[in-house]
Formats: sequence, C-alpha cells, structure tokens
Amino acid sequence: MNNNNFDYLFELQRLKSFKNWQFSKSKKCNERKMAQAGFYCTGSESAVCFVCGKELDGWEEEDDPWVEHKKHAPQCSFVKMRKKETDYTVKEFVILIETVLKNQEEKVHMDDVMKFRELMYSMRDKLQKNCRS
Ligand SMILES: [Zn+2]
Repeated sequence: MNNNNFDYLFELQRLKSFKNWQFSKSKKCNERKMAQAGFYCTGSESAVCFVCGKELDGWEEEDDPWVEHKKHAPQCSFVKMRKKETDYTVKEFVILIETVLKNQEEKVHMDDVMKFRELMYSMRDKLQKNCRS
C-alpha cells in the first residue's frame, strides 16, 4: 500500500483505495463518505487523512467520517474547510496542496515536486480558459 498522501489529493483516488472496506455502501460509514471526509484506506479497518496524516481505526458502521475526523484531528485544514471537493476554489485547493506538502515534508520526493508542477500548470491552463470565456 502506497502511503504517499500526495497520491490521494482527489476524492476519486481516495475512493479507489477503499476496495476492501469493511462496511457496505448502505452504511453511514461507507467508502464514499470516507473518501469525501479526506480519508484513504490503509487496511480493511483503518484509514488515513491525506491532509493531516491522522490514522484512524476502530470504525463503526454508523460512524460519520466527518464527525470522527473533526473529533480526532480538529486542527486539520481539510476539516476546517469542510467543503465538497467540487466547491473548492483553485486558490483554496492550492493552499490545501501546500498543506499536504508541508505535513509530509520529510517524505517529499522529486516525484511529488514534478506532480505538483504538472498540477499547477493544468490549473493555470484551466484558469486562463475560464478568464477567456
Ligand atoms: Zn485530516
């Protein structure tokens, strides 16, 4: 299992990590809710926040991932913003990315820097397109 938080910036990437999650989709603590609350799966019963790096286990099927996240990591930037991924402005998203980088500074490799640059360029392109239209 790859525990590089930078690989889980997007909800879809996090969602994919929950293939073997312990609870079914009908439960409150399902994989989609987990991914929305910033978690990616690190085992059938444990998950890590891609921003603050907090690892939580002992999940119960009726747990609300947002509530648990806030309870155990109130300082987390992702918890503080508490937004759907689609509601983020580019600026907010960049701040979030910077936080992810800062929080795992000692683990940052050249790969991440390159990915970050690619992401910045694609966002810049998007912004420019938006400005033109
Ligand atoms: Zn967090």
